[in-house]
Amino acid sequence: MDVVTKAELMDYAPIKGCMVIRPYGYALWEAIHDGLDPRFKATGHRNAYFPLFIPESFLRREAEHFEGFTPQVAWVTRGGGEDLAEPLAVRPTSEAIIGPMYAKWIQSYRDLPVLINQWCNVVRWEKATRPFLRTLEFLWQEGHTCHRTEEEAEAETLTILEIYRDFVEGTLAIPVIPGLKSESEKFAGALRTYSIEALMSDGRGLQAGTCHNLGQHFAKVYDITYLDRDGELKYVWQSSWGVTTRLIGAVVMVHGDDRGLVLPPKIAPWQAVIVPIPSDKDADLVSGAVASAREALEGPEVPGGGSNGGAVRLRVDDRPEYTPGWKFNDWEMRGVPLRLEIGPRDARAGQVTAVRRDTGQKMALPAEPVALRRAVSELLGTIQGDLLEAARRFRDQNTHEADTFDQLAEIIETKRGFVRAPWCGRAECEAEIKERTGATIRCLPLPEPPGPGGRSSGRGSRCALCGGEARDVVYFARAY
Ligand SMILES: [Zn+2]
Repeated sequence: MDVVTKAELMDYAPIKGCMVIRPYGYALWEAIHDGLDPRFKATGHRNAYFPLFIPESFLRREAEHFEGFTPQVAWVTRGGGEDLAEPLAVRPTSEAIIGPMYAKWIQSYRDLPVLINQWCNVVRWEKATRPFLRTLEFLWQEGHTCHRTEEEAEAETLTILEIYRDFVEGTLAIPVIPGLKSESEKFAGALRTYSIEALMSDGRGLQAGTCHNLGQHFAKVYDITYLDRDGELKYVWQSSWGVTTRLIGAVVMVHGDDRGLVLPPKIAPWQAVIVPIPSDKDADLVSGAVASAREALEGPEVPGGGSNGGAVRLRVDDRPEYTPGWKFNDWEMRGVPLRLEIGPRDARAGQVTAVRRDTGQKMALPAEPVALRRAVSELLGTIQGDLLEAARRFRDQNTHEADTFDQLAEIIETKRGFVRAPWCGRAECEAEIKERTGATIRCLPLPEPPGPGGRSSGRGSRCALCGGEARDVVYFARAY
């Protein structure tokens, strides 16, 4: 992960466990925001903002939730030069501040559903931290919704799970397994937690996003009731869901290689970089060809060019103080998907030399503006698709089957990756497997397409640990 500092995605802050997200890294977070936010809005959600602070008594009202988060909560006990009458928690998540507000806003079935999301920061005081994967403060979005019925809350939870799956696979090019969390891994206070689980290139699992069906648990704690059509006062059904800056860590680990980052074109701050190959003799020829390529790629679509893709996010690296070779290495390390070299020979031949970051493949593209724009757009699309396929191949090659505990333990120890194994559903077996192998149940996979209640059945097989009747075939892995 040294690459995250070298590529200037982040730097270590003077506060232990905190990081500074630098512009190149923040651009990735903006791309994640810009990809997800319209999807949330298209499914009826609106953004709002709730306070950073939660009064201790609010957090305490839900015992399980409070216990679940207490060790990680940072407290503010002084303000304005005085001790506070009541300590304020810095939000580890916002159920406890949003719930009481919803109780105030919701009176009748006419007020439902409430579909609100917020983009914000949260703080969880973690002991072991790692850039982007686990930091004291991180950025995320948290959706909090209220519904009339359990079915609506469940449908909402799965709708968002599918949005996450589609975005992470389609935009970040990371294949995921959507599934249900086991009881011991679910969110504190939730009825059910669903997640998307990814496999990193070092063979460890990573939870890439979670959706919780909260049931009526928090509604009862915060007294969120509504008068239904039948005149009865009822508790609402709720969901909450989120993804965090950890997704950036996933992109780094899934696609990166020995030379540095490899960014999928859809989120790369710069999709292509033009590196002019200078020549004293032909300086004007080269600069003319660079200007022409820049206009073709960055400008509005060429009239009559047909559908040749949107503008390319382009960087022209004409810094005279660095050699082309130095620039090649630098942009490779930063993961720019496509390098375009333009030298005197290219200019004379009416071509641009393109080099793919993901495969190193080198090819000549036509310099003619309409053709160049089309060729680069197509190439970026190909790279995007190939990255997903490569990650899927890796994931599938590193997903193993185990029937017994010995097989499970050996695979976790020697091969890592995901291990699919039958499980009886008992927390004791889950805990013992974790204790002895370091692997946790990542999820109980949903059938495709995901639907409520259905899971990959373990019927007919025996729990890898106790030999009891298996309820599910589940994914185990050592995880971040
Ligand atoms: Zn068992």
